[in-house]
Amino acid sequence: MHGWHHHTKRLLAIWFIIVPITSCYLIVNFFPDNVNGYHLFMVLLLTFLSALFPVTIQGVPIRIVIWITVPAFLMYGVVVELIAMQIVGVIIAIAKRDHTNRLNHLIFNSLSFFIISILSAYVFTIAGGKVGMLAFWPLLGALILYQLVQRILRLLRFTFYVERKDDVFKRMIIEFSMTFLILPFTIALYYLWNLVGASAFFLVGIPFFFILIILKRYNDTEKINRALESVSTIGHHLTMQTKESEVIHEFIESVADLFHADGVYLYNFHQQWLQPLAVFQEGTFQPIEKGQGVLHDTMILSLIHQNESYLFERRIEWGHVNIHEAQIGMESMFAIPIFRDDTLTGVLVVTSKRKSAFKQYHLYIGEILSSYFTVSIFRARHIKEATHRSERCGLTTLYNFAYLEERLQFEFDRLQKGNIGMMTVLIVDIDYFKNINDTYGHEAGNEVLIELANILTMFALDDCIVGRYGGEEFVLILPNCSKEEGVILGEQIRSYIELHPFQLESTVRTEETKTISITVSIGVSSIPQDGEALNTLLRNADRALYLGAKRAGRNRVASYVS
Ligand code: GH3
Ligand code: MG
Ligand code: MG
Repeated sequence: MHGWHHHTKRLLAIWFIIVPITSCYLIVNFFPDNVNGYHLFMVLLLTFLSALFPVTIQGVPIRIVIWITVPAFLMYGVVVELIAMQIVGVIIAIAKRDHTNRLNHLIFNSLSFFIISILSAYVFTIAGGKVGMLAFWPLLGALILYQLVQRILRLLRFTFYVERKDDVFKRMIIEFSMTFLILPFTIALYYLWNLVGASAFFLVGIPFFFILIILKRYNDTEKINRALESVSTIGHHLTMQTKESEVIHEFIESVADLFHADGVYLYNFHQQWLQPLAVFQEGTFQPIEKGQGVLHDTMILSLIHQNESYLFERRIEWGHVNIHEAQIGMESMFAIPIFRDDTLTGVLVVTSKRKSAFKQYHLYIGEILSSYFTVSIFRARHIKEATHRSERCGLTTLYNFAYLEERLQFEFDRLQKGNIGMMTVLIVDIDYFKNINDTYGHEAGNEVLIELANILTMFALDDCIVGRYGGEEFVLILPNCSKEEGVILGEQIRSYIELHPFQLESTVRTEETKTISITVSIGVSSIPQDGEALNTLLRNADRALYLGAKRAGRNRVASYVS
């Protein structure tokens, strides 16, 4: 803030030294004596109107004013052109997005346009140009030089002005081609003005404004087409994402980018509450506090309950809708309800610090994007569920055999790379499980399996992996665990189960619940203690289980001995 003040003061000082004194000198020496008040008024009015409607060509906004300022220069000289350009400078400064440095821009524009007007007029005179001249070829030559200097200086000024230097070249091409396209037109207007007076402005000015309006319209459709193009690319990208969080991130970032938004907020709608899912501001994702919810009686919801998107151009229109404190300081906003099968599932809110930053077509684009988003989210969820299903055992929800095989290989690879020093596996097998099935039925057997799975999960701390290897056999993979630690864990599990009452809800014998006890036998084997190879690891654990535990009487933990 302080630095800015300093900057403005210095700029103001330079302005004071140059502009008023030079102006006085110019007015005394160069003020046209043939000036017609009505003509002057028309010139300034047309300059003002032309400057008000910038035409965007390939994303570069250009204010076409030379069609009127050049004839004015030829007719009256530098003073009138200078005044006209000062008007343009004020309009550019006011139209600037960032309003914090407005005063700074105002002074800078005034100063730079002033210098440009004088320098280019000087070059015009050097090139043999004279105010009021009519000889065609000398006029054309001097005018081309005049405009060349003006364009180059304007571009120089522009490089000072913009933060992003990368579109200077693009701007150069567009500005130069526009200038030399319009130049013949401005000469024609000048001659006509000399011939028929102020009527020339109507004769030429009115069609010129129509051309500007048509260009602007064309420009809007061009913008929409481009936005639609990027929407399909974004949509394609979104649907490729396999994780829900990635879908959300990509969606929010694309929205911010596409709409040049200063804030993007995504809310989940659940039981009349809006819960923030993502808050994106200042180009980054802001942390979301847990349990932060928004009541249902805000304007957002009442509007969205009518299943409609809506758009606000300035803050006073939605000032009372303060759904997130981050939205303070925002002027424009639009919100889009997100539906899934006709039910409201979320809301997308997009804001900008600029007034009237969004147009109706932004809403349509936003709606299309949102539908891509919904599809992508549900696709990601579906993938997650499918993967989960393919990795899990349907009965116990533990990892299944296929997953365990893969995971063993993964941990073994880690071990070989030296990321972990060792690994241990435990095979847990229920003793006389066949008897439980035979006595209480298969259903009851299943209940025991589920309960045992829960117990094993409870014992599986840190990065221990539990899976159902098959039937009533379970496997625990302990990365970075020694054989001794494995035996200790096995013993804890064994003794816990021995004392744990298993409740059977559905037995074939009785209607009531039945409580039984079971025991397990456990085999333990390790890499590298029991061998370096992966394929012997489970085999060794299995051998320990049968030879060391089962054969020795069951309900015990046995570690592999070679
Ligand atoms: P041991 O002490 O020697 O391990 O005796 P056991 O009866 O536990 O061993 P066995 O391998 O003879 O029997 C395993 C039984 O587990 C056979 C099968 O009916 C039963 N079983 C396998 N999968 C399931 C299942 O998903 N549900 C139920 N209820 N029983 C199963
Ligand atoms: Mg078995
Ligand atoms: Mg068994």
